[in-house]
Amino acid sequence: MMNMEFIRKLPIPQEIKKEFPISEEVRLMKAEKDKEIADIFTGKSDKFLLVIGPCSADREDAVMDYITRLARVQEKVKDKIFIIPRIYTNKPRTTGQGYKGMIHQPDPTKAEDMLEGIIAIRKLHTRAITETGLVCADEMLYPENHRYLSDLLSYVAIGARSVEDQQHRLTASGLSIPVGMKNPTGGDYSVMLNSIIAAQSQHTFLYRGWEVRSQGNPLAHAILRGYVDKRGVSHPNYHYEDLELLFNMYSEKGLENMAVIVDTNHCNSGKKYLEQIRICNEVLHSCRHSEDIRGFVKGFMIESYIEDGAQKVGGGVYGKSITDPCLGWEKSEQLIYQIADQL
Ligand code: PEP
Ligand code: MN
Repeated sequence: MMNMEFIRKLPIPQEIKKEFPISEEVRLMKAEKDKEIADIFTGKSDKFLLVIGPCSADREDAVMDYITRLARVQEKVKDKIFIIPRIYTNKPRTTGQGYKGMIHQPDPTKAEDMLEGIIAIRKLHTRAITETGLVCADEMLYPENHRYLSDLLSYVAIGARSVEDQQHRLTASGLSIPVGMKNPTGGDYSVMLNSIIAAQSQHTFLYRGWEVRSQGNPLAHAILRGYVDKRGVSHPNYHYEDLELLFNMYSEKGLENMAVIVDTNHCNSGKKYLEQIRICNEVLHSCRHSEDIRGFVKGFMIESYIEDGAQKVGGGVYGKSITDPCLGWEKSEQLIYQIADQL
């Protein structure tokens, strides 16, 4: 007996990719860009990465509008900055309640529909790369679903609530794009570093009904997102001392391509989204203070959208986050130029 109804069998990734293919031109462009991104992690390029965009990709029109704006800004800062839009279609929830992303609900005000969801996220990611030429990021919330988008994604993050999970770590070890391992919600650096060790190693494991062997992913790296203590109070981990401590602990592990991305929202800002501006400036100051830190910090993850702040699901404001509060467009654009000026 199970308390679960099997509603319908869904198409496998191969079938969805066949029905919604990408063009050869996009495939080649993505391969070039992926190489540029890899060069940032291996230290061949000193461009700074910005993984930037809304907390959740709630509707196709506003997300496409936002990414089109980003593409214009990318052109202006291309000598110093590489922009990877956040198109987060899978949302982890602290208590499991609430909007779990476009993959669950293509329309956040309507019922869940996983088949429509898979098609909606594939269409959105395909439009984004094809129409803007930018290569994008998503969270790998459900490792078994990764291949629905694997030909489209250039960066994935493993969230704070998933980073200690073996299936996430082993799946990350079989990807060839950078995988950012967030510090867990409790803030323990060793959990994050252990996940990087696991992701950089080879494994034989069970994946979607197959026995598979992974090669290990040398581009797996750290993301600092702040943490909560046992009382549920948020604390930051972007200060100079936090970066220095991680640098020292990371160095001892003998890992490849030591790298950290600083997530400027979540527990680092305490979700006071405007603080993201100050946090970027502080981290850039730390980078100027120490060559080691400058080499180590490869970029920022910023939560940004068209409108400032957040609204409830169904609030109806175009381009305003329905999950974590985001920095609005004008401030985000200014911030990108401000970052470029400091590099
Ligand atoms: C996010 O990036 O929106 C997110 C949910 O992050 P975290 O896993 O750090 O909470
Ligand atoms: Mn968020």
